[in-house]
Amino acid sequence: MDATIVQARQPVKLSLANPRGFCAGVDRAIEVVERALELYGAPIYVRHEIVHNRHVVEGLRGKGAVFVEELEEIPDIDAAGRSPVVIFSAHGVAHKIREEASSRGFQVFDATCPLVTKVHMEVARSARKGEECLLIGHANHPEVQGTLGNFDTSAGGEIYLVESVEDARKIEIRDPARLSYFSQTTLSVDDCAEIIEELKQRFPDIKGPRRSDICYATQNRQDAVKQLALECDLLLVVGAGNSSNSNRLRELAERLGCESHLIESAAAIRGHWLEDKIRIGVTAGASAPESLVREVVARLRDHAPCEVAEISGVSEDISFSMPLGLRN
Ligand code: SF4
Repeated sequence: MDATIVQARQPVKLSLANPRGFCAGVDRAIEVVERALELYGAPIYVRHEIVHNRHVVEGLRGKGAVFVEELEEIPDIDAAGRSPVVIFSAHGVAHKIREEASSRGFQVFDATCPLVTKVHMEVARSARKGEECLLIGHANHPEVQGTLGNFDTSAGGEIYLVESVEDARKIEIRDPARLSYFSQTTLSVDDCAEIIEELKQRFPDIKGPRRSDICYATQNRQDAVKQLALECDLLLVVGAGNSSNSNRLRELAERLGCESHLIESAAAIRGHWLEDKIRIGVTAGASAPESLVREVVARLRDHAPCEVAEISGVSEDISFSMPLGLRN
């Protein structure tokens, strides 16, 4: 792979997506870890990457956060001689994980995004009524595992995962008159709409959430990419390979005919991507810090003289309060 960036002669029009980067849920999740570190000191255990971004995770690890995948990796007494302080990531967790943390006496702070918690509450409500639910999402994503794990089947209901239109065509349920659908928060808006359309065709009485489960940040970043993809001949998406919303941004641009690459940082830019490109767009997934975008812009400036402008877009003024015990 060619990582060399040769100075191009032609000036480049560089358009920055608006909005891009951190959403309110990610801001909050990072602040939960930072506040816990301030108040309790290291170590603070975080179950799963707090948000899907290596730079964020490494930064917090440097301050004393210890990332684990499962609670069994956490000792009963931490290095400071106390019951461990544990944080659940922004993606949310299954109910049984909360129970396990509580039974082991951990002090828990929950950084689950409130918009993910909304979906947990929706599926839990259906479960209590003994209904069947369809969850639209990606099987291996931690948010989906957490949401599935908040559906208690003891009232006789069931939850099934639907990953594609094909799944929607084939899924078998017991009682179409008592059926609801919900979704992962970070899906492709268009793909999800197609799946819902198919479900409505097959199950006309199916009920959905009052407001889409796809969150405002996912929607706004995809809307911005739709605009950029039409204006640009290359779109760079700053984000981690395991970030669902970042992957959806890259796919969306490609689908609209714009070459697009998902990059963890400026170092991942390949010189041959930039050849003959005079209109380059840059966006960032909801878990990618703005500092990485700035580095990408600097690297592109090394390649060619750039005229940098931010596209117009919706302004986001959403913020979520901190969990009790971490508020100022
Ligand atoms: S992408 Fe949406 S659901 Fe996920 S943390 Fe951000 S605001 Fe919350």
